[in-house]
Amino acid sequence: MPEPIYLKLAIPTPLRRHFEYLPPPSSEDFQWFPGQRLRVPFGRQVLTAILVEVLHETTIPPKQLKAAQACLDPSPALPADILHLCAWAAQYYQCPPGEVYSTALPALLRQGEQATLTGEPYYRLSTEGKGLPETGLKRAPKQAEVLALLRAHKQLSVMALKDSNVSSATLKSLETKGLLERFIEVPCADAPQREGFLAEIELQLNEEQEIAFEALQFDRYQSYLLEGTTGSGKTEVYLQAIARVLADGKQALVLIPEIGLTPQTLGRFQRRFNVPIAALHSGLNDKERLQAWLQASHGYARIIIGTRSAIFTPMTAPGIIIVDEEHDTSFKQQDGFRYSARDLAAVRANHHQIPLILGTATPALETLHNAISGRYQHLRLANRAAGAKAPSVKLLDIRGQRLQHGIADELLSAISDEVMAGNQVLVFLNRRGFAPTLMCHDCGWQALCPYCDTRLTVHQQPRHLHCHHCDHQRRIPGQCPSCHSLEVQALGMGTERSETELQALFPNTRIIRIDRDTTRRKNAMNDLLDEINTGKPCILVGTQMLAKGHHFPDVTLVAIIDADGGLFSADFRGPERMGQLITQVAGRAGRASKPGRVVLQSHHTDHPMIMSLMFEGYHRFARHLLRERQVANMPPYRYLALIKAEAQDAQLATQLLTYAREMAESIHTSSDTLQFLGPLPANMERRGGRFRFQLQINTNSRSILNKLLGEIGLKLENHPLNRKVRWAIDVDPQDMS
Ligand code: ADP
Ligand code: ZN
Ligand code: ZN
Repeated sequence: MPEPIYLKLAIPTPLRRHFEYLPPPSSEDFQWFPGQRLRVPFGRQVLTAILVEVLHETTIPPKQLKAAQACLDPSPALPADILHLCAWAAQYYQCPPGEVYSTALPALLRQGEQATLTGEPYYRLSTEGKGLPETGLKRAPKQAEVLALLRAHKQLSVMALKDSNVSSATLKSLETKGLLERFIEVPCADAPQREGFLAEIELQLNEEQEIAFEALQFDRYQSYLLEGTTGSGKTEVYLQAIARVLADGKQALVLIPEIGLTPQTLGRFQRRFNVPIAALHSGLNDKERLQAWLQASHGYARIIIGTRSAIFTPMTAPGIIIVDEEHDTSFKQQDGFRYSARDLAAVRANHHQIPLILGTATPALETLHNAISGRYQHLRLANRAAGAKAPSVKLLDIRGQRLQHGIADELLSAISDEVMAGNQVLVFLNRRGFAPTLMCHDCGWQALCPYCDTRLTVHQQPRHLHCHHCDHQRRIPGQCPSCHSLEVQALGMGTERSETELQALFPNTRIIRIDRDTTRRKNAMNDLLDEINTGKPCILVGTQMLAKGHHFPDVTLVAIIDADGGLFSADFRGPERMGQLITQVAGRAGRASKPGRVVLQSHHTDHPMIMSLMFEGYHRFARHLLRERQVANMPPYRYLALIKAEAQDAQLATQLLTYAREMAESIHTSSDTLQFLGPLPANMERRGGRFRFQLQINTNSRSILNKLLGEIGLKLENHPLNRKVRWAIDVDPQDMS
């Protein structure tokens, strides 16, 4: 009689616990490994569970245990290191384990599909294509580019070509001309290539880059903050670090912010390396995503580039993790499993004993603090690579000045000068839509969202009112609903309006708007970026989407027309975010041979924060902010957690949080270690028809906080209001709204 076994499973439910099951019937000889998926009955549902541990004892009478229906994997779908990362994250973020594993698995594996690598279409040059002289396609530059790519790479998957911004039409015409051959190959990861993986010559590092690169240690864990101004050549340092890792036969994982993962970025990696690259971006369908994930986890893909959730991608031989634009808020998930991919990257790198590079021009205060205190090694690139100069900066005081279309005369003439000189101008305005307010001139009525504490934004294309928080939409009233006056006006400036009005001022200049509305369509962003990169004179108008890592060599003037919002934000991170955004936008100016300048309009040109940012630079500015945080006992000097609650009835939400606070205070009485604030209404008290409250916990002890949250979580789960109030724990919250 073999010893009985029990399976400890993580099941995707909102409950903060694991579940025990019996193995499926007649599976006596089955080999069990943590990380395998099973199909299990759960209530009236059938769910996909992850085996976390094989137990030989159970505290539950075996008769009460249900049996799993089937095991879905002969070998683990998630390897031991990812299981470790998930377990760590579930504990640290106090998240139900089932939700954590759901995030780690691609959708199709979550749904119980087979984890099998399948064949993929590839292209290579035909004999004729190989024979064609380099100048043979002069009149079809896109086709010539593909030929050059394939000359350097021997073969590329259709996916990789698409990632490099090659269209199907281009491929088709080359195929029709007989220059390319299409074939199907099943990826296999026999022996990783340890040489010949460079598809182009590396740049000669400059002195600063060389110092940074030489500081990297590849044989153990260390986190590095690579703080380098925009255009200082951080990416080149990443590329050479990756080359080093590939030479050791290892893989590299690169995390990139959500909208930074463009073909422009991917193209840079594709051009440099002659190895399979898996790109995990939002443009993939579930099938493609699964294949990319499997290519990484089988060790076929040598470089994995992805957004937040890619931190959970299994690798057979991890060698380095790189987080680009580490300050970007998209690395923190804001709902459900509220993890920070950047912080998990440090945990994972430590587990594998490999280096982690956090790169940015504008480090998050947490990261800067870690670097200053010596926990992370601080590497700095102060100068722009390739000889480009830092842009000159001008603060434009607009108090009492006439504004045309939100822009002061002096700035308008500067824009005009640049356009006349054949350059590109970037106008930054962090508000999409036509206007932020619709107001009645006669009685002061404003169009408000009926479900949120906010105003409705006016849109003209198509014409309607839109709530940017709950998506509520309605038509624009022809007259004031309150006093029936016809004097209903759109007030203030959004990108849509700015585009229209700039077009009227510059009728012969192309105006390109980049915001969420103009980039919704698939490939729209890439088409716009392509157009900008032709270098023709134009005015770009856009939101923060323009700030993220793009390289616009022909932009010589960046006009920031409204930067004051961050100064008076209710969120304690407001100034930090403002500083990052302004610095990143300003960094788009003069990145190549043409010198750049930045003009920032403000009603508060003598505000110490604006002065410090503009004249001392982000690093000094951030150090001022750190001092303020220290005085105020806020992160990174203390640790924060929020318990958030929302309900249709405000009283129920506060009642649950009051209970949470009372529980917490009865468990821990030292007010030095733990401080509570709340329950208080969130900045936007009502959103989507629900009232939102939060209890803030501030502590100097992560372990005490973690233990406390664990206890509170279980109490809240069992509280009668659990069904009526939506609540969540947010550890290290980034979004206090
Ligand atoms: P960052 O990532 O810091 O914004 P990039 O790596 O994009 O900077 O570099 C900015 C520009 O400088 C790019 O066009 C890049 O090709 C060029 N560059 C980077 N390093 C060097 C170098 N060592 N020599 C010459 N050009 C370089
Ligand atoms: Zn009115
Ligand atoms: Zn709303």
